Parts: sequence; structure tokens; C-alpha cells
Amino acid sequence: MPNSIEEARHLLATPQEIVIFSHRNPDGDAVGSSLGLLHYLRGRGHDVTILLPSNYPEFLGFLPEVEQIVIYDDQTEQAEARIASATLFFLLDFNSFDRVDKMADSMKDDARPRIMIDHHLDPQPIAAPIFSRPERSSTCEMVYEFIDELGDANRVNSTISDCLYAGILTDTGGFKYSTTPLLFRTAARLLEAGTDAYKVADHVWNNMSEKQLRLLGHCLANRMELLPEYRTGLIYLTKEDYEHFDIQRGDTEGVVNYILRMPEMMIAAFIHEQPTIVKLSLRSKGEMDVQQICKALFRGGGHRNAAGGASFAPLGSTINRFKKALPRYAEEIEASYHQFNNQ
Ligand code: 5GP
Ligand code: MN
Repeated sequence: MPNSIEEARHLLATPQEIVIFSHRNPDGDAVGSSLGLLHYLRGRGHDVTILLPSNYPEFLGFLPEVEQIVIYDDQTEQAEARIASATLFFLLDFNSFDRVDKMADSMKDDARPRIMIDHHLDPQPIAAPIFSRPERSSTCEMVYEFIDELGDANRVNSTISDCLYAGILTDTGGFKYSTTPLLFRTAARLLEAGTDAYKVADHVWNNMSEKQLRLLGHCLANRMELLPEYRTGLIYLTKEDYEHFDIQRGDTEGVVNYILRMPEMMIAAFIHEQPTIVKLSLRSKGEMDVQQICKALFRGGGHRNAAGGASFAPLGSTINRFKKALPRYAEEIEASYHQFNNQ
């Protein structure tokens, strides 16, 4: 690790054709860290393109030059051309190639250098150097550190800092999760660099449409099931719900978190039927680890308090599978509840 920054410095010492990869269904951290890094690298004279497997949510449309991002699903030829001519790759906010699907197929077996910057658990050895810091709130926080460790904190201008601050805000739920003294120091430095924190927060939080608010009402009124003996709640959505509400990617963002607003709840699940798979999002409080549940039951992963996975079984059986597994975790749920409330 100590030499990683020297390796990165060496790789960036001459002008490169850089492709930044981030993950499918990109969130504020994926988009913010990619754009923050892009603006920094362009400032250093590199040629930089961001590739994402699928489109970013609309509320991130205010980020500077977000429209230049190339979406692999829609612009495959253009994306492949950029991959073909790249001399250096950055892998941001993911640590295994299954998070980017086909996008990595044409480069993952070749020898061109790749730098990973990521805060998820269990990084796969798919890059070198690897900057992996699961204790950090966000990849955006790590991109700031990366720039700082290169000795370039003075290059962080308001364009870069708006991007990084946006991802910190979304990944910490507005400074609710993963807060550390270091995070607040970094946030302070972003504000000193010119971030308009009020503007960014307004874009990030006040962005719901009427449809999204009505859908939230439907989820809470008609699709929420509580299992108080396991301090767990779930919200599910069927294919018919998707049609009826014309649900698009991003419309259900944050719905799962409402369950954790009940103090006695420790685990929240959002289970929704997509065209070919059933997708599952889990959230938890305190020490309760939902990453292990996603890993064990749904071939997924993520973080201790926010994880996801998928199932090829129908919605009903996926829900049952999840419910049936809960007794296995009952002791851990109780223990984490009592620990959480005694802090
Ligand atoms: P979300 O529930 O918002 O989709 O994802 C929460 C966290 O879980 C994210 O940090 C994401 O990296 C991780 N995650 C979500 N879905 C999957 C998945 O299918 N596989 C893995 N390994 N991680 C996932
Ligand atoms: Mn992240």
C-alpha cells in the first residue's frame, strides 16, 4: 500500500489516454467520484473518458459535464473504441468485474495498467495498484485523499469539489452513516475549495417527482410487511407495480430506508421484480451485518449496513427464502439491537 501512490504517480507522470470505469446502476458516489477524478486528471493534461454500464439517475444531471459520460448499454461502439485506445484505466467504486458486466470483457485479460479506488469489502485482485479502504464513507472521500496524497490538494477547485461532495452526501445519507473525523475534515476542505454545499444538497435531496412520492406512499401503505420478532421489515414491488406506476430506475431510491425509521427495526429489505431477475437491497443498523446475508443467499455483497444481491426465483419464493433465513440470524439481530441501544 505505501508504494501504491508512487506507482500511481509514476503512471500519471506522462499524458495518458484514461478510461474511468464505474459500476452498473451508478449512484451519486459512482458518478461523483468518476467526474471529480475526470476533472482533476484533465487539469493534469490527460485525455479522460468515463464509461458506465447503465445510465445515471436524473438528479445527478447538475454535475459538471455529466452529459459527456458514455453509457455502455446505449453507446457500445463508442465505449469499445475508447477502451481499445486507452493506455490507463481507473476502476472506481467497485472491486469485482461482475459489477460492470460485459464492459470489462475486452480489457480484463490484457496488461494495460489499472488503478482501483474503492471502499467496498473484499477487493478482487483485478487492478494494481489497488486503493481499498472499506473504512471510508465513499469513493469520493477516497478520490480526495488520492489527489491529496499525490500532493495536488491545491488543484481541487469548485468543479471537482462539487462532484466529490455530491457522492459523499449520497453515500453517507447526508452525513448520517460512516462519519469519521477525517470525513468531516475532507468535507471542510471541499467547502474551502468552493463547493456550494447548499446547492448540491438541494439537488441531491429535493428531487422527487409526484410519481415517486405517490409510489413511496404505495410502498408504505400496501407493500410493507413487518416481522417484529426478527426486527426486520420488507417492502416488495411486483412486475404489475412496475407497469402501473411506470417505475424507472431510481424511482425507488431510498424507499428501503423508511423501515429503519422505526427504532425497533434492525434490518430492512427491498425486494423487487425486474424483467429477468428479482433484485434485493438490504439495509441495517449498527453492527448488524447484511452483507453476509446477501452473500450467503443471493450471490451478492456490498457493505455491512448496505448490501444487495439477486435471485432467479420468482418474487414470492425469493421473499420466502429471505424470511426463512431470518431465524439463523436471530441471535445476531438481538445482540446488535441491544448493543446499538446501549451505545
Ligand atoms: P443497493 O441496495 O443500493 O443496490 O446497493 C447497496 C450496496 O450493495 C452497494 O454498495 C452495492 O455495491 C452493493 N450491491 C448491490 N447489489 C449487489 C450485487 O448484486 N452484488 C454485489 N456484490 N454487491 C451489490
Ligand atoms: Mn460508494
